[in-house]
Amino acid sequence: MLRTPLVVANWKMNKTIGESLNFVQVFLPLVSEVTRVDIALGPGFISLMDVSKALRGSRVALAAQNMHWEPEGAFTGEISSGMLMDVPCRYVILGHSERRQFFGEGDGEVSRKVLAAFSEGIVPILCVGETLGERDYGRTFEKVEGQLRGSLEEVILEDGEDLVLAYEPVWAIGTGKTATPEEAQEVHAFARDCLVELFGAQKAARIRILYGGSVKPDNAGALMTMEDIDGALVGGASLDPESFAKIINAAVRDS
Ligand code: PEP
Repeated sequence: MLRTPLVVANWKMNKTIGESLNFVQVFLPLVSEVTRVDIALGPGFISLMDVSKALRGSRVALAAQNMHWEPEGAFTGEISSGMLMDVPCRYVILGHSERRQFFGEGDGEVSRKVLAAFSEGIVPILCVGETLGERDYGRTFEKVEGQLRGSLEEVILEDGEDLVLAYEPVWAIGTGKTATPEEAQEVHAFARDCLVELFGAQKAARIRILYGGSVKPDNAGALMTMEDIDGALVGGASLDPESFAKIINAAVRDS
């Protein structure tokens, strides 16, 4: 099955509203000819509305970096799925390793967020990945499977519901160390087997599995040639419009 590649920028806690809009102004002409890759930008919450307006009429979608699982209530500082849909955001990044590491998120919270995203019609980008210690101890598959099952066990995945997975080895995020295409493909193929067990072969074949971890213009092409790598979640290299556009071009597959 040919899955349309998806490349997502995760700007984390970077860029003011003005800087976000400057990025969009330079970036859109660079990708105006790209039709065979889905693209999303993930600015900070405060920039979502303005970036949404600036993206109108383009093929570029919006991704939020996080959200709460409850629809509303006394959760100071949080954002709900309904608020994101109001913008609107097509995607939401959930379970990023920085959320797990610095904000104590576990699979239980992530699982509730995934369900909340589906209930609002937002596509979850579920992040999973092992630490360096887990890789060294041969625990990569165990970790990825545990996170996948822990976050998706209550998901049914109805026809028409879209789920995106991002394999992001923690040791490769923001470190300049990338998994080799073969290392990444091995985990992506394993993750797809887990998705087959969870949702059946037909649905699993449709799910895009992105790679994330120090993706740059010079390593993106080799990663994207692998069978189960369906795009990228990009942090550092997505902050610059030229380098992010080069990564998108590297994701174009011959059809
Ligand atoms: C990320 O944080 O999702 C990420 C992949 O970051 P970087 O590309 O900087 O490693």
